[in-house]
Amino acid sequence: MTSMLDDKDRIFTNLYGMGDRSLRGAMKRGAWDGTAGLIRKGADWIIQEVKDSGLRGRGGAGFPTGLKWSFMPKESDGRPSYLVINADESEPGTCKDREIMRHDPHTLIEGALLAGFAMGAHVAHIYIRGEFIREREALQTAINEAYEAGLLGPDAAGSGWDFDLFVSHGAGAYICGEETALLESLEGKKGMPRMKPPFPAGAGLYGCPTTVNNVESIAVVPTILRRGASWFASIGRPNNTGTKLFAISGHVNAPCVVEEAMSIPLKELIDRHCGGIRGGWKNLKAVIPGGSSVPLLPAEIAEEAIMDFDWLREQRSGLGTAAVIVMDQSTDVIKAIWRLSKFYKHESCGQCTPCREGTGWMMRVMDRLVRGEAEVEEIDMLLDVSKQVEGHTICALGDAAAWPIQGLIRHFRDEIEDRIKAQKTGRVSAVAAE
Ligand code: SF4
Repeated sequence: MTSMLDDKDRIFTNLYGMGDRSLRGAMKRGAWDGTAGLIRKGADWIIQEVKDSGLRGRGGAGFPTGLKWSFMPKESDGRPSYLVINADESEPGTCKDREIMRHDPHTLIEGALLAGFAMGAHVAHIYIRGEFIREREALQTAINEAYEAGLLGPDAAGSGWDFDLFVSHGAGAYICGEETALLESLEGKKGMPRMKPPFPAGAGLYGCPTTVNNVESIAVVPTILRRGASWFASIGRPNNTGTKLFAISGHVNAPCVVEEAMSIPLKELIDRHCGGIRGGWKNLKAVIPGGSSVPLLPAEIAEEAIMDFDWLREQRSGLGTAAVIVMDQSTDVIKAIWRLSKFYKHESCGQCTPCREGTGWMMRVMDRLVRGEAEVEEIDMLLDVSKQVEGHTICALGDAAAWPIQGLIRHFRDEIEDRIKAQKTGRVSAVAAE
């Protein structure tokens, strides 16, 4: 199995902000090295390299990045093309893109130029989460430096390609991380997802061809192009390649964000970088492997877990944003999932009925399950409702609300039933939801 990532293969060499994050510091670490030369190789070459590298989107869905770029029109029909970078990062547990923006922002800015050129865009927008105030400042400072150095603007980096980069910020709605809601918000409207089709590559920002990519997906591009697709593809497992930022939180001894090889075993990831599980692996209860919207895994599966898209999907979970949330035996797992249900209910934009009504319904049942004040039959009823929400909504928030509950019932049904029975017989006082 894949072993630890070598230091020489790290893309984000200032992830912890220990070095100089200015343009000078970034250039010393290799940023902006031969950018114009890469652009001169042409858009088709860049897209092919990104395809060959096997890079899959780092924002959650894992769609092949090069393929996404190839959907953009080769010839303009008069409308401009746009690159939009999703820096909303609101998925609970996820805190990786912020490290790039505040400590290694030039990886993202150079990546934006290369990706923008590859898809024929002269303008890119970075849509950043409103709460990321310091990150926004760091990013804007870096962009200003790049303009002053001629790396952005007319004839960007001496490539012959004119390229402008703007930063806009959201106001705190989770749904604005959904790509079409993000575009609405960027246009100054209420952040509500659009029906698809049309997809953004056909009609995105201001009705023009647009590609929306995650921060990490764009920031890895310069290094892939400099070191070659085969280098990136050699890390991880087939179809799950490259380096990946993991954000590990919860009941580990030392929570952290770390760049590692894709497909690293979860055990190795936690033992090497987080000082192990609090109280040891025997004390582990469950792990959410990819941010709040993916189903949790119980300890026995988590101990064997391979951290990549395909392995986790086979376990009916997902890599998502690679935000690993660890829960030890002290966790009330029913209450933990109830908390997520409350979050999704709050963040539903209300546009479609199954999500608007279903998230509230699911949260209210979860509320009673936490206290054990329910009938055992209601567990199946809840599962049934979650299936009526899943796949029946405009955007993925409906799925995101349904999946954690489905994972809970799949793996911890006994615990839910025990609590109901205990409540009826008065054996325990279950923890009440607050
Ligand atoms: Fe809005 Fe929920 Fe429908 Fe998404 S699924 S569009 S958040 S109501």
